[in-house]
Amino acid sequence: MSENKFVQVAINLPLNDVFDYSVPQALQPLVKIGKRVWISFGNRTIVGFIVGISASTAITRIKEIKSVIDKEPILSSEILELTRWIADYYLCSWGEAIDAAIAMPFKKGKTSIKPRLASQLMPGIDYEKKVVKNILTSYQTKALLQLNQSIVKREFNVFLLHGITASGKTEVYFGAIEQTLKQGRDVLVFIPEIALTPQTVQWFTEKFGKEKIALVHSRLSAGEKFIQWQRIKSGQAKIVIGPRSAIFSPLKNLGLIVVDEEHENTYKQEDTPRYHLINTAIKRAQIAQATVILGSATPSLESNYAAKKGDFELIELPERIKGSELPQVQIVDMSNQSTRFKRLPILSKVLEDNISRCLKNKEQIIIFLNRRGFSTFVNCNKCGYVLQCPKCNLSLVYHSDKKCLVCHHCSYMQQAVQICPKCSGSSINYLGTGTQKVESELSRIFPLARIARMDSDSMRKKTAHFEALDDFKNKKIDILVGTQMLAKGLDFPNVTLVGVISADISLNLPDFRASERTFSLLTQVAGRAGRGKIAGKVIIQTYTPDHYAIECAINHDYKVFYEKELLFRKQLNLPPFSHLISIVLRSKEEKAVISAAENLGQKLMLKIKGLEISMIGPMPMPIYKLKGYFRCGLILNTADILNTNKLIKELLKDNKLPSKIKLAIDVDPRMVI
Ligand SMILES: [Zn+2]
Ligand SMILES: [Zn+2]
Repeated sequence: MSENKFVQVAINLPLNDVFDYSVPQALQPLVKIGKRVWISFGNRTIVGFIVGISASTAITRIKEIKSVIDKEPILSSEILELTRWIADYYLCSWGEAIDAAIAMPFKKGKTSIKPRLASQLMPGIDYEKKVVKNILTSYQTKALLQLNQSIVKREFNVFLLHGITASGKTEVYFGAIEQTLKQGRDVLVFIPEIALTPQTVQWFTEKFGKEKIALVHSRLSAGEKFIQWQRIKSGQAKIVIGPRSAIFSPLKNLGLIVVDEEHENTYKQEDTPRYHLINTAIKRAQIAQATVILGSATPSLESNYAAKKGDFELIELPERIKGSELPQVQIVDMSNQSTRFKRLPILSKVLEDNISRCLKNKEQIIIFLNRRGFSTFVNCNKCGYVLQCPKCNLSLVYHSDKKCLVCHHCSYMQQAVQICPKCSGSSINYLGTGTQKVESELSRIFPLARIARMDSDSMRKKTAHFEALDDFKNKKIDILVGTQMLAKGLDFPNVTLVGVISADISLNLPDFRASERTFSLLTQVAGRAGRGKIAGKVIIQTYTPDHYAIECAINHDYKVFYEKELLFRKQLNLPPFSHLISIVLRSKEEKAVISAAENLGQKLMLKIKGLEISMIGPMPMPIYKLKGYFRCGLILNTADILNTNKLIKELLKDNKLPSKIKLAIDVDPRMVI
């Protein structure tokens, strides 16, 4: 009797179960764990993933699989174990986790894709291997010694590499990668927003040669992604550089995972499965017995706390390399500025003077504002009516390049108005400052300066950012204005001044991580200044100069910030002392979502009675109407995440939501909105 008579199949639907199917005799030699099959489900034919094979089944009425899609399994046992863990921890179905793990060309049952020939790793980037010999500092040498021990022993260990900006973390990564390759093992490297950091890619290709590297990023076409997937699967590429989804790369012999800028929010997936890269990377390393390096100048509170508790090993790089000094940081209190003018100035006198001094000296300047568009708030002077997105009830932002009003949450767009839609008054205020307004203000004050803007509006074209950064590198641009795109890993020795237009934007967000985010953003931005021979200066404009996030950023004092913030989190029992789980219901019908949330809240209350789990809500979410949906939710706070997850799973299995209600569960959310 064949052992292959039945298969257990996971499917990409929010259903927790794995389904049994029988295998027709002719197909029995073909079924293997990790392959895909066509199955009928309900009245549809869909793709299923084989996650188990058996000789018998307890199911009496059983359907047959229709066909086997793959010649070879596309999922290894390592990836199957990882996705199973994701499903349990992040509360999605196994099939949903697997679907997120498979490469784009394999979605919807395809087996290959006709690739457009990709001759380059990245458009605009084609570097040759170079022999670069850097002499390591004593801190770098010590760090590497510690890492190499773990790599050589092929042990599972997590290291937190806390190095201040320009302390040479990349050199330490390189050393650890070399050691791993020497062991015959493979490497995964994560860089946030890889398409925006061509310099990093250049360093890697020059160091290891492009033949060994697979680069996976959002700007590749499906065909280009498939080429990279094949290079990884065949073992040709030994180093994979990518965003969080690269954690599912089919490397056979993983020995090292490097996560650069580990504090970044982009490492959290915002759609199902809502996994966080750090947790997932640690899990994969555990399965593969690999070493993990988490690098940052401003480690997340969670990571630093884990290091303090001894779960991670801490390695510090407290000095800048090449003897460059940390930049001098000056605060400008904008509340003093407002009295000098009728209208609030965008640039303070201090910032304006410093820009003009740098321009005279032919030095370069970065101006940072984390808000796109021209005017961020448009209202009627007469009746106060605020122009809002009809689908989200959030303020529309005026974009001067297209002369239109845009919603930054959905992509709703309408023409700019001169007449109030409510009272027909003709005096419309365009208030609030975005990067476009800063750009236009700079060119008004400094008409001779060469100014460029870098944000997601100006960077739509595939190669626009390479061109902008190249021009900046070649000193064809004097002032670069931009959003947080500019904060990441850029290294331009001629930049001597960094100006922050408003430090308060991220501080005022209704989120418990607001201080942490502000501190880390300011530290990163400030770190772009003074990386060469000339000392750098940073000017930060703010209305809250006394806030500890800002004070600590000025003094480059991570430790003091960490202690203060940790105390605040402890008092409120927030992460890292607990885990949050947000459960958000949404519906186009307002009444339906309110009653469903109340219903779910009551049932959940009964479940958690007597346990150390607290619940906030049911309540309307801070963004109550988004993309046409009304949103209500609950937040659970618990120390025992796995048991709480079990309770939620049980509850949702026993209580089916009405079909007009959509559900989103976020375990360890980065932001609750
Ligand atoms: Zn009006
Ligand atoms: Zn909208």
